[in-house]
Amino acid sequence: MNITEIFETMEYGPAPEAPALAQEWLKEHQPFNLFINNQWVKPLSGQYLDSTNPATGKTLARVASANKADVDAAVSAARAAFPSWSKTPNHIRARYLYALARTIQKHSRLLAVLEALDNGKTIRETRDLDIPLVARHFYYHAGWAQLMSSELPGYQPVGVVGQIIPWNFPLLMLAWKIAPAIAMGNTVVLKPARYTPLTALKFAEIVQEVGLPAGVINIVTGEAGQAGEALVQHADVNKIAFTGSTEVGRSIRRTTAGSGKKLSLELGGKSPFIVFDDADLDSVIEGVVDAIWFNQGQVCCAGSRLLVQENIADRLVTKLRARMERLRMGDPLDKAVDIGAIVSPTQLQEIQRLVDQGVKEGAQLWQPSWSCPTEGSFFPPTLFTNVSPAATIAQVEIFGPVLVSITFRTPAEAVELANNTRYGLAASVWSENINLALDIAPKLKAGSVWINSTNLFDAACGFGGYRESGYGREGGKEGLYEYVRPSWQTKTLDQAPDTSASTNLVDDEKMQILSSNGLHLEEISGEEDSLNDHMHNGSSSSFAFPAIDRTAKLFIDGKQARPDSGYSRAIYTPAGELIGEVGDGNRKDMRNAVEAAHKASGWANGTTHNRAQILYYIAENMAVRAEEFARRIVAQTGRHHADAENEVQTTLSRLFSYAAWSDKFEGVVHRPPLRGVVLAMREAIGVIGMACPDQYPLLSFISLVAPAIAMGNTVVALPSSIAPLSATDSYQIFETSDLPAGVVNIVTGEREILSKVLAEHHDVNAMWYFGSAEGSKLVELASISNVKRTWVNYGRERAWLDPVQGEGEEFLRESTQVKNIWVPYGE
Ligand code: NDP
Repeated sequence: MNITEIFETMEYGPAPEAPALAQEWLKEHQPFNLFINNQWVKPLSGQYLDSTNPATGKTLARVASANKADVDAAVSAARAAFPSWSKTPNHIRARYLYALARTIQKHSRLLAVLEALDNGKTIRETRDLDIPLVARHFYYHAGWAQLMSSELPGYQPVGVVGQIIPWNFPLLMLAWKIAPAIAMGNTVVLKPARYTPLTALKFAEIVQEVGLPAGVINIVTGEAGQAGEALVQHADVNKIAFTGSTEVGRSIRRTTAGSGKKLSLELGGKSPFIVFDDADLDSVIEGVVDAIWFNQGQVCCAGSRLLVQENIADRLVTKLRARMERLRMGDPLDKAVDIGAIVSPTQLQEIQRLVDQGVKEGAQLWQPSWSCPTEGSFFPPTLFTNVSPAATIAQVEIFGPVLVSITFRTPAEAVELANNTRYGLAASVWSENINLALDIAPKLKAGSVWINSTNLFDAACGFGGYRESGYGREGGKEGLYEYVRPSWQTKTLDQAPDTSASTNLVDDEKMQILSSNGLHLEEISGEEDSLNDHMHNGSSSSFAFPAIDRTAKLFIDGKQARPDSGYSRAIYTPAGELIGEVGDGNRKDMRNAVEAAHKASGWANGTTHNRAQILYYIAENMAVRAEEFARRIVAQTGRHHADAENEVQTTLSRLFSYAAWSDKFEGVVHRPPLRGVVLAMREAIGVIGMACPDQYPLLSFISLVAPAIAMGNTVVALPSSIAPLSATDSYQIFETSDLPAGVVNIVTGEREILSKVLAEHHDVNAMWYFGSAEGSKLVELASISNVKRTWVNYGRERAWLDPVQGEGEEFLRESTQVKNIWVPYGE
């Protein structure tokens, strides 16, 4: 086509990017070996895999395929480098990160071409989006390395980090993983995806060029079943960071359960793209193109569900089809191409399978009239209308250029449809009415919400999911906590847990404490009813009542409830004397408690001031009964009275702390490179199940409940099995302190069994467990089905009296998740 013809037709001329330099680089380096200890090492497996160009199906390079022994070598290198890297001054680490950023920019063209060749994504995207964001991540985290001591005091690096990344944004995912990890002083073993290893290998060369100390970054290419699994199972890896499918995320949770490895999971999505009838439809159309055809729809946060207000649906679909007709598909290296190739023939088949299923289930398929290139893996942009919200294509992540469209009538219905998914990664809201958009955004269960925009990312703005989209954040300050742990956590998992403070008392001391509490075993009647009988018989005056003697019921939905089982459990002093009874809760009680906690979810929408007031009020009412609470602690634990008094006073202080925090642990406003702001809001997680420890039964119970409710969560608490009475005494305080019904629910019983029930419950959003190592493992395993966030202690005790360990930001962070709401502005 000559220039005159181009002017006449207004067709795009070809604008190919030259691949010669990249091809030369590949030729010089093959076969690629493993990058361990800053050396290129032949794989002990002796095996190599092909990396192919999805746009042509041709082999680009031979790449080493690591086995377990290779992973061992990489982890050893990372372990050996850790002591020195973790002690490297912040400023020096910052300089290395800065150098990485600069060198990435220097090689940006080669990286962009390599990425397009290896993945099939368009050069426009790799050049203008992926690679600039990669550099930005290293710059941004150079800053956090510099500021680590002042901004994260009391934290240390985690150790050796295993990182597993997918093929959809190969180098960007590498940057999201490696930059925060090394900024915080960790060392890394990273496994790129089988299909897309090449830019990671170029990055390894950059690591050498920069002169990063050997062993800080190790890159092992290979397959999931070999390299991937070996990394996840490795005993000397302290954390796994994973991005990929929800299914593999679950399997990694299963493998790591109970190991004490930290885990962050960035998983799939089925993100809603909500269009209200007052939206600017021309912008919407370009938004849809970016939402679902960007990267061929192989984006975890792709706006794959178009939710459109019914009265504009026909107009929007007509406009959309016209735009789809003009999308350009072809050679990813052509700068005028909108849609490139699908990463592999297998992925292509999977997309086709789901599309066929959509048709079979009755949805109406529309594809543009032009045909796809015949060579390589290409799939046309696809629009489904007449889709039922329950259809497979409306629920399952297709991970391809396939959009399903569903209509709604009211904003409330839009929110309901948007949240009708097991995922919660991202959402877009389109409306010219900012009041409406900002009202909808907090109601969406998603980690990122883009208003009148979509698929925007920046290193300063954390990214990550709610629900089955995983947990943990990447980017922002919140992302750093995935790579650090409190400095006081020095014990390794194989050290035996401390024993309870109460066990050291001699029997005499215990007896003394008991008698000072007015407890005489022979006079105790465990049954409320028999006690009443005594009273009705007029024998009360001659009967020496024990201090507390009734069967404490469960506390569900603001009411005292008899356990479904009809059974109670006897509670004894450490010396084996009966001091009371509590209800023996079962699965049905747990269901009722979770239901009540859900019903109380409006608690999250109340003002933080109101939550603070109620926490102060709880403290006030508890203070009046401080002596009674102290005696109860003495009776249950056998500790000295003064010690128990100290526990009560510390509990009151803790309530004050969280009353103070409730209106202060807030979000921030980011200024990413865009005309607009990003509101990073801390939101409640929802229903938190919590198994409370045996030590310090009042203090530890309140230390867990108070931050959770201060941040707007509702709670189902399982008190200690051996000392539950401090918790059950508290519900009288809750009742008289204006705490709304259902915000705190207490179920006594066999803590270990009930913990499992709670951890398995699909309507529980997070599970905290403070008990044995075995129990911690069970909770992590039970959390798998709905990818629940867990916080467990692996059998290690905390010093609950110590404010460094027993309260503060760690608790508040566990009680919240950050949602980033992107708000562009300007005409
Ligand atoms: P996977 O989740 O299987 O792969 C992601 C990464 O994990 C790859 O490096 C893979 O290695 C590795 N891996 C896979 N299984 C294990 C394991 N058991 N232990 C350790 N590492 C493992 O994604 P796929 O590439 O197979 O894609 C399948 C589907 O997953 C897609 O269709 C899409 O729906 C979803 N997906 C979601 C992504 C997201 O960002 N949310 C990203 C990619 C995929 P290897 O490459 O060698 O298989």
